[in-house]
Amino acid sequence: MKYFPYGHQYISKGDVDAVVKVLQSDYLTQGTKIPEFEKLIAKTVGSRYAVVFNSGTSALHAAYFASGLGKKDEFITTPMTFVATSNAGLYLGATPIFVDIDPKTGNIDTDLIENKITKKTKAIMPVHYSGYPVNLIKIHAIAKKYHLKIIDDASHALGAKYKGEKIGNCKYSDMSVFSFHPVKHITTGEGGAVTTNSKDYFQNLLVFRTHGISKDNFIKVPDGEWYYEMQLLGYNYRLTDFQAALGISQLARLKSNVQRRREIANIYDKAFCDNPYFDYLEEKDKIKSAYHLYTIRLKDSYKELKKEIFSNLRKGGLGVQVHYIPVYLHPYYQNLNYKKGMCSNAEDFYQKTISIPMFPSLKNSEINYIIRKIFEVLKSTTK
Ligand SMILES: *Cc1c(COP(=O)(O)O)cnc(C)c1O
Repeated sequence: MKYFPYGHQYISKGDVDAVVKVLQSDYLTQGTKIPEFEKLIAKTVGSRYAVVFNSGTSALHAAYFASGLGKKDEFITTPMTFVATSNAGLYLGATPIFVDIDPKTGNIDTDLIENKITKKTKAIMPVHYSGYPVNLIKIHAIAKKYHLKIIDDASHALGAKYKGEKIGNCKYSDMSVFSFHPVKHITTGEGGAVTTNSKDYFQNLLVFRTHGISKDNFIKVPDGEWYYEMQLLGYNYRLTDFQAALGISQLARLKSNVQRRREIANIYDKAFCDNPYFDYLEEKDKIKSAYHLYTIRLKDSYKELKKEIFSNLRKGGLGVQVHYIPVYLHPYYQNLNYKKGMCSNAEDFYQKTISIPMFPSLKNSEINYIIRKIFEVLKSTTK
């Protein structure tokens, strides 16, 4: 039987060759492929700087650190995300404040943000859920009014555009964060990046990535040519050069890959139009989703059947997934005293949503097969 996961990487012969070439060179890490990859990422998203990390999660940690987030601070984020978005703030001793979502997009409801701002609020961390850009212009206006930082978790949104602005260009945020996990738009195995237009953030991110050690910008007078200086408590969050080579090779296909994801979405949209079982998100004018995910949302009359529908889709060879369990419902967060029911739209969304296969190497015949299978399962499970 055919099996289609919800997301999958594509590795070309050129990707393999690029990695092998670095493996046979002198520098497996801390070589020239890292700045080369960083320059290309910055160019791709239209930011001044990019700094790569060994995961999207470490990139989030570094960006939050660079923003000055720390103990006793609060930051506003969405519960409809991967746990890393809020975990990265917990690493720094800060407190996530969850704001409910807009049930149409799955993104943070920008109308509810201001209500949650207190004297302790330091930053807003929105997520472009499924690759559909959040209204950063509106969030920027709120942040300006209350002197807050914005770090957008753009792990789903490499290649997305909001009103002509590329996500990651940091026109309306301080820093943007990307992930290069294999299900994302480009992959380095594990990996991530922060983009920014600020030189201060850029230098801070570089130092944080490598133990807090600087090799050129010193506080003390150097003892000699060997001198290096640890200035803050950083981590080893470095990406390797062979991973960067893979990323460079992958990045060359980003545009065509996002275009293919958008074509696939278009085929799904047409096939799903006016169906009795579920809703889906259609793009609005001037908003270009990068379609990391394609999610269907069961209508209220069918949401009680989600468990069975999900299980029958899996049995039918569709590697569907659910994005996401609202973050604060996880046992760790429940122990921190977040209450069930606090974001009712997110909890309802969780009951309805299913991510179906979406990755650029899907063929049209396979997409049609997936569509037939989905309707077959829905018919038989709901009758
Ligand atoms: C993938 C992802 C991350 C980062 O994940 P890593 O596996 O550490 O690269 C963070 N936030 C969101 C929303 C993600 O989807």
